[in-house]
Amino acid sequence: MSQKEAHDQGLFSDGQQASFRPIQVYSNYIEAHIALGRLQEEGVSCWLKDENTVTINPIWTSAVGGIKLMVAQVQVARAIEILDSVARVQQEANACPQCGSLNVMLVSTPRKAVNWFSSLLGFFLGDLAVGAHKVNHCFHCGAEFNPSSFSTP
Ligand SMILES: [Zn+2]
Repeated sequence: MSQKEAHDQGLFSDGQQASFRPIQVYSNYIEAHIALGRLQEEGVSCWLKDENTVTINPIWTSAVGGIKLMVAQVQVARAIEILDSVARVQQEANACPQCGSLNVMLVSTPRKAVNWFSSLLGFFLGDLAVGAHKVNHCFHCGAEFNPSSFSTP
């Protein structure tokens, strides 16, 4: 949404940003952007705070408390609803292919060092195989498989 559109919707007044609230904190640039993109698709006015600090030096993530997803106060309830449904869909999409369990968690693979820059590049190129650095681990049967939640819509 452009600044003008936002202004037209009353989200900005006198060039000042209307009140925004952090509804989620991310330590991961890509996750933050996926959430941001989803909300924007739904017409939610939102932006990422402290994004640059984290991106420039991921080690600072803990120092600044991560990337904050800021949402216009009036749209907070809707934004939370959207993120909840996204999380639910992702969880279901990541059900274990072997046993169907939802008790699955994304874990880093020890085999490769995480290269955040190539991940970033992959994100912008739409090749979300960046998830290759992580696999889903099923805590029910122990199977490991590639995450499917990082697919583009
Ligand atoms: Zn399983």
